[in-house]
Amino acid sequence: MNTTFAENKSPALILIVDDEQFIRMQLRLALEREGYQIAEAENGRKALNVFQQLHPDLILLDAIMPDMDGFECCTQLQSLECGRSTPVLMITGLDDQESVDRAFEVGAVDFVTKPVHWPVLRQRVKFLIEQSHLQKQLELAHRELQRLVTIDQLTQVSNRRRFEEYLTQEWQRMAREQLPISMILSDIDYFKLYNDTYGHQVGDYCLQEVAQCINHSIKRPADVVARYGGEEFAVILPNTEIEGAIILAEIICSAVRELKIPHSSSPVSASVTISAGVATIIPKPNSNYQEVIILADKALYQAKLAGRDRIKSISIGKY
Ligand code: GH3
Ligand code: MG
Ligand code: MG
Repeated sequence: MNTTFAENKSPALILIVDDEQFIRMQLRLALEREGYQIAEAENGRKALNVFQQLHPDLILLDAIMPDMDGFECCTQLQSLECGRSTPVLMITGLDDQESVDRAFEVGAVDFVTKPVHWPVLRQRVKFLIEQSHLQKQLELAHRELQRLVTIDQLTQVSNRRRFEEYLTQEWQRMAREQLPISMILSDIDYFKLYNDTYGHQVGDYCLQEVAQCINHSIKRPADVVARYGGEEFAVILPNTEIEGAIILAEIICSAVRELKIPHSSSPVSASVTISAGVATIIPKPNSNYQEVIILADKALYQAKLAGRDRIKSISIGKY
């Protein structure tokens, strides 16, 4: 595999930062011959700008420059998004122990000395770019893994594990701030009959449609939809009063109705409907988040008893 090329086959981009135009040109020519793409900056300040625009794979950074030197530039890079994950190869003065020490202190991953010895630089650049690509692949894999362990495979909303994690966190936060937390617990009506009529696979498809419909109905970034059980979906609504939660539950109920998914064997409607229980609590310190689930489940039961395709609500606290 040609290591100058990233996974997407575009050549790696190297940012050369040096105040001497002649050195920049020498480096550019040598590295372009190796198949890299090159960007240039003549001081630290300009390097930071170019970095944010182009996101290079590697930075070759001269230590001594006017305006902003390499050490200050490297320090500031570490505080930028992606700055930490982009390797910096510092170019220091020959035999300059202090510069080498400082280069590592400010976050450079390696250094070469001036005058630049090309065979050494060539190998270091190759190695650092390989390392950087491996690192990026690892980060991507890690992010994908994080997503997989929190998402329900079938419906792509949060899974039960994420539901419990998030509810625990928000319950404690609302208890500290003495703010209300609401929950909508919804359940597809006569879903067993649906499966019996259309088959399990069509049932799965229906679950996906309903989950996405609920997901599209929520508006705030803090609101989370999760698959609570087989055909039950929960919505966690931090810092939400009962009135707001009821409005949202009504919106969700009618949005599912509007999907008009045929359900010929349902005793309540020609299409798929849901029932929902809404509960709101201001959590007491050291109380258990199960309280709001139990309450929402009670309300859901009442909605089922009252004829399905509707919502019921319960709240405690100041309400
Ligand atoms: P109710 O109106 O009282 O909620 O009636 P219901 O038939 O929906 O309730 P019940 O709890 O009896 O049935 C739930 C059904 O949901 C039974 C089960 O086979 C089905 N189900 C649970 N998980 C899945 C799934 O992942 N895919 C499919 N297709 N069906 C599922
Ligand atoms: Mg059920
Ligand atoms: Mg059901």
